[in-house]
Amino acid sequence: MGLQEIRTRIHKAEDAAGRAPGSVTLVAVSKKQPNDRVEAILEQGHRCFGENRVQEAAGKWPDFRERFQGIDLHLIGPLQTNKARQAFELFQAIHSVDRPKLARTIARLAQEEGHCPDLFIQVNTGEEEQKAGILPAEADDFIKDCKGMDLPVKGLMCIPPVDEEASLHFALLAKIANRNGLEGLSMGMSGDFEKAIALGATHVRVGSAIFGERAY
Ligand SMILES: *Cc1c(COP(=O)(O)O)cnc(C)c1O
Repeated sequence: MGLQEIRTRIHKAEDAAGRAPGSVTLVAVSKKQPNDRVEAILEQGHRCFGENRVQEAAGKWPDFRERFQGIDLHLIGPLQTNKARQAFELFQAIHSVDRPKLARTIARLAQEEGHCPDLFIQVNTGEEEQKAGILPAEADDFIKDCKGMDLPVKGLMCIPPVDEEASLHFALLAKIANRNGLEGLSMGMSGDFEKAIALGATHVRVGSAIFGERAY
């Protein structure tokens, strides 16, 4: 696998779904990958990356930013409110807005800083106890509250349960987004991004299929 193959597969999936070429953004998930692999993808011209920890991102991206122009960094993992200010400095998008307290912190920072990353609200579509995210039944109210705070909500994000058919969760997320007038859908990973594109994904988060297995 690798970047070119994933790009080709994304184009085919866009085409099969009758969607415009380039309508899906590839977020290359670089968490826990050795720097030389990330650099190889940067050398190929890719600029949009995903990290799931603020600390890890802070350790590697400032250096890459000095050497490569136009890096677009997305936070795809849980954000503690005490790291939110640092996240504002590092990330152009946050896909993990998952609770009212975090939304309020982001709203306050947006006022103070005069800018705000693009936001995606994480929905716990599988209603899993161990997983972050707003429950589907509470999503409409939470989205309304976020919009009421003038937050730049671009869309919704989900991580389907590992043992269930992902398409059901993608379809549910698309339905909630649609009824709330949101266009962005951050869904689909290495194993299921084509299904996600068929159901309207605007952002797919693909890690191991581009970089290879992660080092833990
Ligand atoms: C790690 C991660 C991914 C990428 O997973 P792969 O299976 O390696 O493609 C996508 N989304 C989130 C939220 C992740 O934490």
